[in-house]
Parts: sequence; C-alpha cells; structure tokens
Amino acid sequence: MIVYDLACDQAHHFEGWFSSAEDFDAQVEAEQVSCPVCGSVNISRQLSAPYVNTGGSVETQEKPDAETALSGVDIDSLHRKFVEFVLKNSEDVGKQFPAEARAIHYEEKPRRSIRGEASRDDIDALREEGIDVYSVPGLPTPPDQVH
Ligand SMILES: [Zn+2]
Repeated sequence: MIVYDLACDQAHHFEGWFSSAEDFDAQVEAEQVSCPVCGSVNISRQLSAPYVNTGGSVETQEKPDAETALSGVDIDSLHRKFVEFVLKNSEDVGKQFPAEARAIHYEEKPRRSIRGEASRDDIDALREEGIDVYSVPGLPTPPDQVH
C-alpha cells in the first residue's frame, strides 16, 4: 500500500491509500477518487505536506478516525481551532523538520513541538524510528507548494 497526500481543485487536502501508483492513476482517471470535503473528482497529488511533531510528549495512540470520532461535530471549525492551536504552540522549522524531529527524539535538542515540511519518505523513516509525526492538512503551505 502507498499513501498519497492529495488535494482537490478547491485546495482541500486529504490522504488516500492505493495499492500502487498505477492504481492511483487508474482510480483518478475513472473519477473514483473524490474529495471528502466537497466531493470534487479533480484530484491532484501533493509532493509533500505539512507535518507536526509533538516533541514526544503525547503518548502514542491510534489516530481516531475523524469521521466516526467527530460525527455530529462541526469538523471545519474544530479543524480550524486545531490548526490555530498548532500554529500558536509549535515552532516552524521548515525543511529542517525531519532533522529537528530526530534531534528532539534522541534528546539532542530540548523537547518541544515543532512543525514543518517533510516528504512521505522522511515521514516513513521517522515513524520507523518510533517518532510520532502527524499530518495536519490545512496548515499554511510554503510558497512553492501553493497551486
Ligand atoms: Zn474538496
């Protein structure tokens, strides 16, 4: 399985799981991939997405399924609040994110919450090392990510 960071033509970001790159292409072609927010089938792949690292202070737990855990809640406003919280309470380290997350994990740097950019490969590597990183769709993307 591979996971892609996807965005629709309304700039909603979400993740999609596919068995292969060909599978992704085929499903997009057949308009079987749609935005969970607006239902658009104009989907494009993002090369990287903003990620947040909690500095290890949060116990590892399965990410709750947003749709079941938050049913009946105004997810948009909840998500906006979360994004604001992350922005206020984490340090933007930009492309240094994987290095900083690692330094914090191995206690080479003070424990704190950071946010920044990382590729899917970086994230996989960090998770393999036991470092908790979360994808936070909706964080402002750097200029070269704006489409
Ligand atoms: Zn959308």
